[in-house]
Amino acid sequence: MPDDCLFCKIIAGTIPSETVYEDGVLVAFKDVHPIAPVHVLIVPREHVESVNGINESNQNLMGDLFAAAARLARELGVADDGYRCVINTNREAGQVVFHLHLHLIGGRPLHGLG
Ligand code: AMP
Ligand code: ZN
Repeated sequence: MPDDCLFCKIIAGTIPSETVYEDGVLVAFKDVHPIAPVHVLIVPREHVESVNGINESNQNLMGDLFAAAARLARELGVADDGYRCVINTNREAGQVVFHLHLHLIGGRPLHGLG
């Protein structure tokens, strides 16, 4: 893992986080600057920089991320009212942490994509 990766450090436990779920493949924890009542980051343990790093050898991670999102959305009570799964890729999309992560966002009405 890159020494300077924030999410690798959170996964390793050297930086604290509020974990809501973990298994052998993924860790999910609360975003430190939530934009909605539910704002969880779902992160593969494997360091992949972004969707640009997904290929035939690791594409199962994407299914794992979305399956975890669906399960957590139910557990956190937003599945029926609705929620967003957001994955930012590179600068113009606003990616600031270059370790693949899915934002699970819900608990209030969300309008537009801006
Ligand atoms: P992105 O812009 O998609 O790269 O999202 C990175 C997210 O990581 C932002 O929503 C930040 O609020 C969040 N974040 C940054 N540092 C931490 C941290 N130590 N614990 C939890 N979330 C963090
Ligand atoms: Zn990493």
